[in-house]
Amino acid sequence: MIIFKSINTLNKEVNFKANIGFVPTMGSLHKGHISLIKTSKKACKKTLVSIFINPSQFNKHHDYKKYPKNLKKDIKILKKLKVDYLFTPSAREIYKNKKSSKIKLKKKDKIMCALYRPGHFEGVLAVINQFLQRFKPKHIFFGEKDYQQLLLIKKFVKNKFKITIHACPTVRSKDKMALSSRNELLTNADIKKSSYVASLLFNFKRKMKNDISFKKNRINIIDKINTLKKIKIEYLEIRNKINLSKNYNQKNFKIFIAYYNNKVRLIDNY
Ligand code: AMP
Repeated sequence: MIIFKSINTLNKEVNFKANIGFVPTMGSLHKGHISLIKTSKKACKKTLVSIFINPSQFNKHHDYKKYPKNLKKDIKILKKLKVDYLFTPSAREIYKNKKSSKIKLKKKDKIMCALYRPGHFEGVLAVINQFLQRFKPKHIFFGEKDYQQLLLIKKFVKNKFKITIHACPTVRSKDKMALSSRNELLTNADIKKSSYVASLLFNFKRKMKNDISFKKNRINIIDKINTLKKIKIEYLEIRNKINLSKNYNQKNFKIFIAYYNNKVRLIDNY
């Protein structure tokens, strides 16, 4: 595996005319990331993974500071997977050529995480924009775990870059909790509570699939989750999975949650 820190060297050494798959991450790799990497390895000739904890997407500085970092362990995992290239730039490397035009979200997109984490998706889109302007992979891989992010990136990239976006399903633990780098900040007791939240929401989804009028129980579910110790829901919303509007039916809805578990912010969708 070749490790790059500069975009110039990356462009010199990697033949982007070939079928290159790109998996952007913030590191502390787990089986969710690994499934994206394996999908890229199957679809593409070479796979490039990036590990970059993007400061501009953290709207709270202490959240950025406490974000888990495990570069040595990550490199071991990537070597074992036979990943071809790793890109680990500094923030300076990414933002030194920053153009003055700021990325803005449309008013109708300022919902859920965009509402509760102002500036977050603008930061995500800014880093994806920097990446794709400066090197040109043919394929890029994202997880459905970050579903709102996935839809915003699809929209952003559509007429701007010639690249195929691949959406990969959420990987979960045995007891249904979505894998996340942030889970490293949780205790075993916290993890139990998050697994319980996941099972409640899977159940809620199943009941709504049978009978959409069951949606009226959303408030009861919120109350039930909020009574758990050290758990606080930020939002629990049911939306149309194609366009995230509130106009949904039995076939096209998705349930979205963001909540704090022992001060760690977690998101998931069902
Ligand atoms: P992150 O390192 O959290 O920024 O995530 C990098 C990529 O991995 C994003 O496209 C995420 O959606 C994806 N990802 C994170 N967790 C999971 C998971 N449990 N299952 C599938 N994809 C995931």
